[in-house]
Amino acid sequence: MLEIQGLTIKFRDGKETVTAVSDVSLTLQKGETLGLVGESGSGKSVTALALTRLLPEPPALYAKGDVLFEGESILKKKKTALRSIRGREIAYIFQDPANSLNPVFSIYEQLAETIRLHRPEVQNVRREANFWLEQVGIVNPEKRIDHYPFQFSGGMQQRVMIAMALSCRPKILVADEPTTALDVTIQKQILDLFRTLKSEMSILLITHNFGIVRGLTDKVAVLYRGRLVEFGNTETVLKAPQHPYTRALIGCVPHIGQKLVRLTTIDNL
Ligand code: ADP
Ligand code: MG
Repeated sequence: MLEIQGLTIKFRDGKETVTAVSDVSLTLQKGETLGLVGESGSGKSVTALALTRLLPEPPALYAKGDVLFEGESILKKKKTALRSIRGREIAYIFQDPANSLNPVFSIYEQLAETIRLHRPEVQNVRREANFWLEQVGIVNPEKRIDHYPFQFSGGMQQRVMIAMALSCRPKILVADEPTTALDVTIQKQILDLFRTLKSEMSILLITHNFGIVRGLTDKVAVLYRGRLVEFGNTETVLKAPQHPYTRALIGCVPHIGQKLVRLTTIDNL
């Protein structure tokens, strides 16, 4: 469904050129959840944005390779074609919901705008907006839908962002560190929500946390300084990581995660 082929992305800053992503090849199949892992600055977000050519050019330069969506080159597409893929086919959720929502519009106004733009066929926009809020676990949405973002907690705001992405009925959901800005209990709720979404769409889940990868993904790709150092079934990678960097990352999972490793090992005996 989505195929990254030898993608190399550079940034030109004056006379200097830095390579952010180097020769990365990955696939995301229909219905699959793929974890993209790596420390800060390893090229995760650049890769995610490149999927629909969202990086500003310049400074970004697609130096080599390509991204195929349903067999067609993203880099060869016209701007109008790209616009109809963004949101409608491939939707994004970013790290910080507070900065993604517009403070001066109500939750309804923001959801309605997205629905009108990407799904002009929808007749009853308000009902549709309420439906998606309910889908992401907001109880009695009609009572909350006219509120403004500041009246929502961080976790609730992230739910709204997810509802907004889902309301486009995308084939692929790209979630770039969707729980990093949230506290631990809320993180867990949002991750449970992702677990329920898994069966309905392909998900590219970006995180620096191997605990999240373990609980949620079918496959995992590890980026290290812009290079792909590991790509495979999550279970296989967790059992036998090939690259020392992956081993180090797995070792970084906090205590509760390490307990889980032991449990899976025992389960498998
Ligand atoms: P992360 O894995 O934390 O998401 P990024 O994909 O954001 O990392 O960044 C990868 C590399 O690309 C970093 O070295 C970063 O400095 C560089 N980079 C990202 N965006 C730009 C930009 N607009 N201009 C220059 N360099 C950038
Ligand atoms: Mg990032």
